Amino acid sequence: MTTDQRAVAKRINKLRAEIAHHRYLYHVLNRQEISDEALDSLKHELKELEDAYPSLITEQSPTQRVAGAVQSGFQKVTHNTRMLSIEDAFLREDVAQWLERLANRYDVKNPELFCEVKMDGLAVALRYQNGALILAVTRGTGEVGEDVTHNARAIQAIPLTLRQPTADDLSALSKAGVSNEALAMLRDVSRLSVEVRGEVYMPKDAFEAMNVREKKEGREGFANPRNVAAGTMRQLDPQVAANRALRYFGYALVTDIGLATHEAQHMVMQTIGIPVNPLSKRTRVLDDVEAFYDKLIHKRDALNYWTDGVVININDMRTFGALGVAGKAPRGALAWKYPAQEATTTLRDVSWSVGRTGVVTPVAELEPVTIGGTVVRHASLHNDDEIKRLGVRVGDTVIIQKAGDIIPKVTRVLEKLRTGNEKKIRPPEVCPICGTTLVTHPGEVALMCDSRDCYARLRQRIIYAVSKQGFDINGLGERTVDQLLEEGLIHNISSIFQLTEDELRNLDGFGDVSAKKLHNEIQKHKRISLPRFLTAIGIPHVGSETALRMAEAFGSLDALMRADKEALMEVDDVGEVVAQSVVEFFKRSHVRANIADFRKNGGEILSHKRRTGRLQDKTFVLTGTLKHMTRVEAKAAIEALGGSVSGSVSRKTDYVVVGEQPGSKADEAVRLDVTTLNEREFFAMIGADLSHI
Ligand SMILES: [Zn+2]
Repeated sequence: MTTDQRAVAKRINKLRAEIAHHRYLYHVLNRQEISDEALDSLKHELKELEDAYPSLITEQSPTQRVAGAVQSGFQKVTHNTRMLSIEDAFLREDVAQWLERLANRYDVKNPELFCEVKMDGLAVALRYQNGALILAVTRGTGEVGEDVTHNARAIQAIPLTLRQPTADDLSALSKAGVSNEALAMLRDVSRLSVEVRGEVYMPKDAFEAMNVREKKEGREGFANPRNVAAGTMRQLDPQVAANRALRYFGYALVTDIGLATHEAQHMVMQTIGIPVNPLSKRTRVLDDVEAFYDKLIHKRDALNYWTDGVVININDMRTFGALGVAGKAPRGALAWKYPAQEATTTLRDVSWSVGRTGVVTPVAELEPVTIGGTVVRHASLHNDDEIKRLGVRVGDTVIIQKAGDIIPKVTRVLEKLRTGNEKKIRPPEVCPICGTTLVTHPGEVALMCDSRDCYARLRQRIIYAVSKQGFDINGLGERTVDQLLEEGLIHNISSIFQLTEDELRNLDGFGDVSAKKLHNEIQKHKRISLPRFLTAIGIPHVGSETALRMAEAFGSLDALMRADKEALMEVDDVGEVVAQSVVEFFKRSHVRANIADFRKNGGEILSHKRRTGRLQDKTFVLTGTLKHMTRVEAKAAIEALGGSVSGSVSRKTDYVVVGEQPGSKADEAVRLDVTTLNEREFFAMIGADLSHI
């Protein structure tokens, strides 16, 4: 080697180490210290140096992930040790029985358990020889799998060479109880040969982005990410895997390097550069296992991968091994699967929501149904084509599927259950928010509202509706409103009150406690005063002051909705423009539907005390005893006519009603020159029946 070459070789080694370090940070520690662009720039420099000095290229260089030729077929590979499957359980009782069986039949009592997230991916074994990846094999039959090394190499999450643990890593492992035997082997991974097993999976965001691309290019898209992961690993051309952003989580280090527990295997895998799921948990208590399981059920929609349950392992490897295998499954592990994710229910209605881009999407309003432990009220119908494809009608019994998505899907109609009363679904002609005529652009299926500010208006309207002047819902801020709109979970005011705890829990930044709190807060504000309601629904030109005046004038929402322009103009503060605006607002069918919906779902708009009639703005003070009316009755009679009753006399008092044995208030009235009324005069004023006095 020339001096020049030596310098290049040095640089190349440094670049490779740096790139490997950032891969480790990103894929194993879930951290990023430099931008993708900076990392690409390092890779680019490495590639150029290698192109100039091809003799320095090694198979383990990060530039060589997709370097192999396209395969002509798949080689069968016999597994060193069988790749087992895991026994399924569905109920807590199943898990309890498993533990009982271990205790009674195998004398494994109160064992330490290691719980991990069960990935819904494709199991792949990775063999490393002297620190380098030499073979990747699918599970296959469990005895014999297929060589998919070319595709595994293309997955960035899988290291081509094992990471050398630092001194700090080793001392941390030592403190965690990893044996000296294992530590000795980890001191030099370039001599370490191990087999790791884990799952290749596709993250949700990558899956969704890929489907967007697929559909843009006129293809169907994929139904589920598990099939994509499996299909990708069965490709002969590794470029496909390289393009699909697959990931890997190791679940076992099957080579015996002296690790005493399953947990230690996870720790070691992580230090040598294999990503492991960080959510795993060690415990001895069934209640803890159940809590872990419950938490995952609630959390899994928010995770960036699909999971179908929890794997419970006997943590101690010697015990695990001694328990042996029953059929194809180890006795020392159990997969506690999530409950079925499908249910049938009735389609009550279809509402149309407008998205940020103006796309108008049908949302199925369902008879509430529990799917996998959560209550589902809404499901996506995508677009009008999907409605036609399903042939779904309002009133139909439908199958709802809840995959990883927040909003479940209608997958099938059970046509045999029709009664004949089902109604066809017609897409709206005008935008449910702004009234603009909807269009479908050439070559697209989606119905669009082309009005530029439509979504922004809806957003503003909802933020205003829940604000202090309106429903006054604490904790429903702009960020949450944005998320709810984007998920299609709300599309008008009444839909806010139909949100479920589960739907809230699935939002970013929400957990069990905060979801419950916000849900309670929303439900608490279902009862609302008329002025607040009139403010909240966003009638153009009507602020909280005008809303109060109108509430006082009409007393109830229904009376107000019946009022014509002239009647409205009688109200203080209400001129022609406002009156016209109110009349037109309540004429809109979607406004009326929204209000009806709000009431149907338990919303209550309280009547308001009217301030009209003869005694409007008049203040009364009562003193002494009336012969024919109690004080409470007198007060109610005054208020019914729009007057009010005060406890003390002032210059602002209009009338003092003087009964028998009056107090000092009667004298006060005389002193302040306030009109006094005896019982007969008072009754005449309020129009009470005088015949028996
Ligand atoms: Zn619109």
